[in-house]
Amino acid sequence: MSQPIRIGIVGVGKIVRDQHLPALAKDQDFRLVAAASRHGKVDGIPNHRTIEAMLAAEPSLEAVSLCMPPQFRYDAARTALEAKKHVFLEKPPGATVSEVEDLKTLATRNGVSLFASWHSRYAPAVEAARAFLTSAKINSAAIIWKEDVRRWHPNQEWIWEPGGFGVFDPGINALSIATYILPPMFITSAVLDFPENRAAPVAAQVSFRTSNGIPVAMDLDWLQTGPQSWDILAETGKGRMVLSGGGAKLAIDGTVVHDEPEAEYPMLYKRFAEIVRAGASDVDLAPLQHVADAFMLGKRNVVEAFFD
Ligand code: NAP
Repeated sequence: MSQPIRIGIVGVGKIVRDQHLPALAKDQDFRLVAAASRHGKVDGIPNHRTIEAMLAAEPSLEAVSLCMPPQFRYDAARTALEAKKHVFLEKPPGATVSEVEDLKTLATRNGVSLFASWHSRYAPAVEAARAFLTSAKINSAAIIWKEDVRRWHPNQEWIWEPGGFGVFDPGINALSIATYILPPMFITSAVLDFPENRAAPVAAQVSFRTSNGIPVAMDLDWLQTGPQSWDILAETGKGRMVLSGGGAKLAIDGTVVHDEPEAEYPMLYKRFAEIVRAGASDVDLAPLQHVADAFMLGKRNVVEAFFD
């Protein structure tokens, strides 16, 4: 077994505490050696206020995970890549497509790995859904992603700011699965609902078409109370596919064919270790490109103000 990769974590907030720290604590491929955050702290390791201070104090660091909101990630990623550290980007990988393209070039130039992580792609039933759809004639598909922003994102102001993506912050998780299991597709129309007091949408209806004409409808809503929906459906020649629970469970014609506990973040770090050791990068921009296209092509509706 090779030596663990010495990693630092940046932007210690909700996702770091919920997922990165537990995943790294059990991971033999990595040793978490430092953190950088303005307010957040990780117990038992040196904590720094900025990535620059962390890199200066910990020259043996080999990799960093960047977990701050997307609007504030590019400069940190650039600093890390120029210091020849491998970089794990939380999703979405950036606030624009072109800044992530720039990071890709920079990673190649510096001979280090860049990983645009898409955690939902590692949900347990996603591979089975992809295999099913590859073997079936698809007639139509639908993405239904409806959750309660007050429950999942309390007091997160950045998510309502430009570059925070609004309802596309969860919606891009759906797109990361859809772009992996469905044929290549593009947006034909979109309607985005912006609360009158916010800079990002609270709901969106997006129509896609695959290059061979299959319609794919996406319905995103951030005001869903009660049961939450994170489902991708497909009508196929081999029956009705329902991938539910954010990719956790797969049913064909009502029969559950795949249902396993999730291990998305352990799988993400396994993939990161793989690409670091192979000297490769893994940066698929398709989900981010679709969000950019929805903002570019979408009609904007102004709706009722949103208050936490
Ligand atoms: P968060 O808790 O609001 O933010 C993470 C940390 O980033 C904050 O604690 C803060 O740490 C730092 N930060 C905030 N604003 C900053 C700024 N202006 N400049 C620099 N650092 C800043 O957000 P999160 O929920 O962890 O989400 C972070 C990323 O993970 C997002 O891209 C999100 O889409 C993704 N993600 C979140 C979840 C989830 O369930 N929440 C799930 C999967 C992926 P300091 O104040 O200490 O610097």
